[in-house]
Amino acid sequence: MQVKTQPDELQNYLTDASNLPGGFADRLLIPETTAEVAEILKEADEKRIPVTISGARTGTVGGAVPFGGWVVSLERLNQIEAIDQDGLFAIAGAGVVLSDFQKAVEAENLFYPPDPTEWSCQLGGTVATNASGARSFKYGATRNFVDELEVVLAGGEILDLKRGAVWGENGLIELETRSGRRIRAKLPTYPPPATRKNTSGYFSGERVDAVDLFVGSEGTLGVITKVKLRLLPKPESFFSGIVFFDAEENLLAFVNEARELSFAARNEQIRNPQSAIRNPIDASLIEYFDEKSLRFIAERFPEVPAGAKGAIYFEQETTAASEDELLERWNELLERSGADLETSWFTTTEQDREKLRAFRHALPVAVNERIVRCKQKKVGTDMAVPDDKFASFLKFYREKLDASGLDYVIFGHIADNHLHANMIPKDEDEATRARHLYGRFIAQSIMLGGTISAEHGIGKHKSRYLYVQYGERYLNEMAELKKAFDPHGILGRGNMFDPKFL
Ligand SMILES: Cc1cc2nc3c(=O)[nH]c(=O)nc-3n(C[C@H](O)[C@H](O)[C@H](O)COP(=O)(O)OP(=O)(O)OC[C@H]3O[C@@H](n4cnc5c(N)ncnc54)[C@H](O)[C@@H]3O)c2cc1C
Repeated sequence: MQVKTQPDELQNYLTDASNLPGGFADRLLIPETTAEVAEILKEADEKRIPVTISGARTGTVGGAVPFGGWVVSLERLNQIEAIDQDGLFAIAGAGVVLSDFQKAVEAENLFYPPDPTEWSCQLGGTVATNASGARSFKYGATRNFVDELEVVLAGGEILDLKRGAVWGENGLIELETRSGRRIRAKLPTYPPPATRKNTSGYFSGERVDAVDLFVGSEGTLGVITKVKLRLLPKPESFFSGIVFFDAEENLLAFVNEARELSFAARNEQIRNPQSAIRNPIDASLIEYFDEKSLRFIAERFPEVPAGAKGAIYFEQETTAASEDELLERWNELLERSGADLETSWFTTTEQDREKLRAFRHALPVAVNERIVRCKQKKVGTDMAVPDDKFASFLKFYREKLDASGLDYVIFGHIADNHLHANMIPKDEDEATRARHLYGRFIAQSIMLGGTISAEHGIGKHKSRYLYVQYGERYLNEMAELKKAFDPHGILGRGNMFDPKFL
């Protein structure tokens, strides 16, 4: 295990993609085994030293930013132990980088769908944040692919969690550590919002699988050291496109139709898996770029058509046998929707597909770079609302942002009613206005039955808004759950809720 205490050695571990300032820590520990993680947590718990768990620090809400105590980096737990083609699973250390994992899985002709756009994150980080992204429209968030977890609790005890083995019911869950101690915890009772995605607070529901409690727990319940992930057979090929529209109404109508057709195809497959499906459109991702997003990255991608009012990036898995018909159906739908087919980009090759993915990735990266250049913090939304509230929420975003005079872009996971409105303040005055607007978006989202965080989590940035979403009673319930696993509150202090609730 490496232990570092010099300021220059710690520097990189004091911040994450949120640019939250002021991070500090006394010590950085880089364990190489689960036993070493357990040793660290035992000592930290005895001495009541706060511990912040560090993945690749690509998180956008300050979850990995320490404010005192020790930082434990999982980067050396980076072994892929097994990839099983027959059983369709992989077992890997929490510190394995997602892009390395994806490559290894693909080399075995398998597929791991979670794709949070930023591929330098670690598996443990994606599980701790229940990361999702573009493909969650079809496959859901990381949670859906987590079968087993090895978790070290504050105090050093280890939990081996297997999906389906332990359920929490009637408000209680009971788990047994590897050493045989039984832990009883009260489960939170808040109803989850009626959105397609949600990462606000601990998982809740009538029946809660123990695995789900730790997925999305943002480093507050335990350190995830090993994961067993479910895999799928690798699709034969993909058909992807970035399609430009010169009228936003057309773009929105296209999204609605593509989404409905995709749901219909999936329902048909569930109802009657043997049947030759009549409608072959079944998108795995449908992503949105508003006009300002396109202008923002036109510098890097001059081929973006000048008059485009918005674009959609879509993808669907395909096979040689179905490809022709599929392309024809997409073409019909696009023509019907008034897409600008002349200037749009389509591909079925892996190389060009990477270019489309790079285009999608370039936008949040360019926004982050501009923010850093302006020495500001990004003010970006991560809210999702129920299906029937999406159109009015988008209108609300646009009206308020246009009236504000701030630079902004709106982009993201439109098929999940989940867009990121990123405000790009140039100075302190604009930053204050952006934060004020952010508060209004939070209030509107909650009023519409939405969630304040659909995929990035709460971290330290949004803890006060979690309070707005759930109120004191439910935050107390979350704190009570945490105390069952971390009685002295040493882990991920400040993440999700204020330590005063502990
Ligand atoms: C350009 C860009 C685009 C992004 N797009 C998306 C997107 O589309 N969808 C999406 O979901 N996210 C997105 N993200 C956010 C980010 O990639 C995810 O939150 C990622 O899952 C975090 O992984 P990490 O290893 O970087 O974790 P970190 O940032 O290091 O940590 C995140 C949180 O998890 C905790 N943690 C980390 N590892 C462990 C562990 N082993 N055990 C317990 N707790 C742990 C940390 O304490 C912290 O609270 C984006 C980020 C960037 C920079």
